[in-house]
Amino acid sequence: MDKELDFLTILDAAVFAAEKHQGQVRKNKHHSPYITHPLLVARAIYEVGNIDDTRILTAAILHDTLEDTRTTEQEIADHFGEKVLSIVLEVTDDKSEEKMDRKRNQVIHAPNLSYEGKIVKLADKLINCRDILNDPPEDWPLERRRDYIQWGADVVENIRGTNSSLEAAFDQVLFEAQGRLNFKILPYESVDERPWGPNSSEFS
Ligand code: ZN
Repeated sequence: MDKELDFLTILDAAVFAAEKHQGQVRKNKHHSPYITHPLLVARAIYEVGNIDDTRILTAAILHDTLEDTRTTEQEIADHFGEKVLSIVLEVTDDKSEEKMDRKRNQVIHAPNLSYEGKIVKLADKLINCRDILNDPPEDWPLERRRDYIQWGADVVENIRGTNSSLEAAFDQVLFEAQGRLNFKILPYESVDERPWGPNSSEFS
């Protein structure tokens, strides 16, 4: 097995994703280029998670291309192989579904992800929740930020036991968020009282 980090493939993925996400920006105050998000996800996997698996890092960089750009599955398979494609597909929402159904499905499907899919999902939630805490979209009221972080916590609860460092970093974000956004993260046991709960009676 080739254990060496394939730096060229990772750079190719960064170039590919940068071109695909061209013109897209984050919703934060300064409208960062969208590509910063998948790059930060890959960075967290490498630096915080201490993972140097080329396919996981490549999939992390590509993780939003199917969902948010015109990229096709075939393109990813041709450039980066079937394994990377399968990881990206695992973390891609079905855009034909309503927003709340997509949130619910992430909670439901999290435990069934592969190890590689769980790592990308975990790092994605870490980076997104950290952004919502530190650099949120300007038009998001406090309640929406709290809700987003609670949802992230509910998804991550179904992934725990995958990478202790990434989970500890996520827990640190939850700790800081509770203090600075002045709320309490609710335990997973009460998830069905939330709109994205698997058996919630609320439907979007
Ligand atoms: Zn993402």
